[in-house]
Amino acid sequence: MSEVLEELHEECGVFGVCHVEDAASLSYYGLHALQHRGQEGCGIASMDHGVLQAHKGKGLVSEVFYPSVMGQLKGDCAIGHVRYSTAGGNEIENVQPLLANLTKHKFAVAHNGQIVNAKEMRVYLEAQGSIFQGSSDSEIILHLIQRAKGTFLERIKQAFSLLEGAYACLILSEEGVFAIRDHNGLRPLSYAQFHDGYLISSESCAFDVLSGTLDKDVEPGEIVWFHPNGVTHDRYRNACETHMCAMEYIYFARPDSVIDGINVHEARVATGVCMAKKDKMAHLQADIVIGVPDSSTSAAIGYAKESGLPFEMGLIKNRYVGRTFIQPTQKQRERGVRMKLSAIEPIVSGKRIVMIDDSIVRGTTSRRIVQLLKEAGALEVHVRIASPAITYPCFYGVDTSSFEELISARMNEQELCAYLKADSLSFMEISDLVSSYQTERLCTACFNGAYTTGLFSYGDIIKTFLSHKE
Ligand code: SF4
Repeated sequence: MSEVLEELHEECGVFGVCHVEDAASLSYYGLHALQHRGQEGCGIASMDHGVLQAHKGKGLVSEVFYPSVMGQLKGDCAIGHVRYSTAGGNEIENVQPLLANLTKHKFAVAHNGQIVNAKEMRVYLEAQGSIFQGSSDSEIILHLIQRAKGTFLERIKQAFSLLEGAYACLILSEEGVFAIRDHNGLRPLSYAQFHDGYLISSESCAFDVLSGTLDKDVEPGEIVWFHPNGVTHDRYRNACETHMCAMEYIYFARPDSVIDGINVHEARVATGVCMAKKDKMAHLQADIVIGVPDSSTSAAIGYAKESGLPFEMGLIKNRYVGRTFIQPTQKQRERGVRMKLSAIEPIVSGKRIVMIDDSIVRGTTSRRIVQLLKEAGALEVHVRIASPAITYPCFYGVDTSSFEELISARMNEQELCAYLKADSLSFMEISDLVSSYQTERLCTACFNGAYTTGLFSYGDIIKTFLSHKE
């Protein structure tokens, strides 16, 4: 799947700074490095001698923050957020960090992911008298902390022990910054020592921008509290196995990030190698390998290395097509593909091409790309997908929450190949993904329906789909 129009979107990225001068400015650079995780809105909250300040808005980090704003965000602790909305709308009330100015506790919350039992928790909290300002499920965290008892750390523990889902969360208070990761480790969150303090980020690529060095991942079910006297590790749930979202490696994360000890670029290269080995065994004849830019480039490099075929730039991406062109109708999508991608005719004309893409969601984009290549004179287009077919929706913060939008839930490989008008098509097996990444600690629910959490009200979507299938 190219980064075009029918792309998967993830719900957000978080970045925090603790006990480093000018924390908000550092957060700006951190969020900039995480911009690929969400472009709809962003915000930074900082704490200066007990005064909580924030600025947030709709748009890119470079659009929302300008020098006069940054000058107002003082203090040596800050948290920030980039948003893509899957749960809740993209109204300004849902842009984070969310602030709570309670008599005893002033705090801000930045949350990436999805709370699966959000509906149930909201009903419960409203029955208890809580009033919600927005529709984002992140607001639930604020209310749960407010209602809990004990020290601030104990309140956080109580709140998160009630939540089920996939998330990375940062909380800023007078007591420092708290980093919390879901107990299945579905969403990434790591930290780095930086000068006399710490940086915390959804992805390690944001540390590199600031010349910070990745220290550790926050463990599943763990709360890491960064405070003036150092770091305290605590848990709100017992240790669980990590089930990192496989799509982080396949598509979402930047190739220079390291997630749970695995470099994303290297993981993608290994998938390309794996696909090439299979094609070698099947005696596939081709002239060149191309990747759909940008997230498929690493896998295409791996394929080329293993197959001995030249890696070529067959497709070029127009980087300046704005978000305004991400439109929901089919016609707009089709036009958008042409605006965003072009085939380089002298490269592809007269060639048998292996085209590597990272995944297929609706199939519309892949079909258009095959068409682009053939119109530019490609003799054959063999589509290789560096992930298994997406046949189940994701309820963990990725915006594929219905079966209708997943073409592989309706078509088998052969039918899909015919729909794409490709000369051949193949996906990876889950076992190939596991051996390429050299870890079994993956969530693969969108490929096989093996959800790692209870699904609460989302379970009905699965039941309805399965009953139609029977
Ligand atoms: S269901 Fe898929 S997209 Fe969602 S968390 Fe699991 S692997 Fe990631």
